[in-house]
Amino acid sequence: MNLCDIKTIKQIMAMFSLNFRKEFGQNFLTNRMVVEDIADSCCENSHSTVLEIGPGIGSLTYELAQRYDHVVALEIDRGLIPVLKYTLGDCKNVTVINEDVMKADLAEILAPYFEKGPVSVCANLPYYITTPILMKLLESNLPFEFITIMIQLEVADRLCTPCGGKDCGAITAVLNYYGTPEKIFRVNAGNFIPAPKVDSAVVRIRLHKEKPYRPVDEANLFRTIRAAFEQRRKTLPNSLSSVFGELTKDELTEIITACGHDPNIRGEKLTMEEFTALSDALYAKIEEKKQ
Ligand code: SAM
Repeated sequence: MNLCDIKTIKQIMAMFSLNFRKEFGQNFLTNRMVVEDIADSCCENSHSTVLEIGPGIGSLTYELAQRYDHVVALEIDRGLIPVLKYTLGDCKNVTVINEDVMKADLAEILAPYFEKGPVSVCANLPYYITTPILMKLLESNLPFEFITIMIQLEVADRLCTPCGGKDCGAITAVLNYYGTPEKIFRVNAGNFIPAPKVDSAVVRIRLHKEKPYRPVDEANLFRTIRAAFEQRRKTLPNSLSSVFGELTKDELTEIITACGHDPNIRGEKLTMEEFTALSDALYAKIEEKKQ
C-alpha cells in the first residue's frame, strides 16, 4: 500500500467515512520521496525511538518504523485510530496513542524508551499549533536528541536565522538556548492533500546535551528575551522597562551600559551570550533591591 498515493489516501478516508479535518491541520503528504527524506534525516542512530506527533493515516509513521527501533505516535483525531490499525497493522514496533500532544504527559509516556536509548521527535506538524508544540517539547527539558519538524516556510526561516540578525525573533533566541536549528529542505504546497496555501520546510534541531548558556535564573532569561522582542521598535531600556517594572529606567540604562552596550541598542541585536549576561545582571540587581 502506498500511503502517499492520492488515490489511496482518498480511498482510505472514504473507507472509514472520514474527511480531512481543517481544525486539526490535516494536510497529508503525497510525495513518498519527501516522506523518506524526512524519515532518513530525523535520527543518526537506528536504535532510536521516535515520537511522532500527528501520524495522520501513517505514511511517515510507516517509514519511521522501517528505520528505527520504536515509534510512538500521538494522534488527536479519534477517527484516525482505526485507520492507523489498518495501515500499520504489520508494524509491530509502533505504538499509537489517541491523545492531544498539548495535554499528554510526555515524560511518563516516553520514560521506558529513554531507558532503552536515544529518543527523537519527528513530525509534519499541524500549522495551527506549531509554536506551542515546539515550546512544549523544548520546555519539557526531556533529553531528546533531535526534533525534526515540517512547518510553514516562513516560520522555518525565522527559527533558523542567526541570533542577533534582523529576522531573529523571541522564538529564535529561545530555540538557540535549547539547541541548534538547521533548515534541511523546502517542500512545496503541491506535495500535500489538501494543498495548504503556503510552502513548508523541514527543520532539524539538534538539542544541546550540555547547554552552552547557563543563566543564573532560566525564567529570568526568557523574561529578558520576551521583553526585548515584544517592543522591537523601542530601544532596550524602554522595552525592558515595560516588563521589569521593579527596576527604574536609570537602573536599566546603567545595567545595559555595564554589560558593554550602547543604551540606544535594540534588543533584537543581542546574541544569546549577551542575553544571558544581561539577564544575569538584571537578576542580580532585582535580588539586591529585595534586601
Ligand atoms: N503525518 C501525516 C502526514 O505527514 O501526512 C499527517 C500530518 S498533518 C499536517 C497533522 C496531523 O496532526 C493530523 O493527523 C492531525 O490530526 C494531527 N494533530 C493535530 N493536532 C494535534 C494535537 N494537538 N495532538 C496530536 N495530533 C494532532
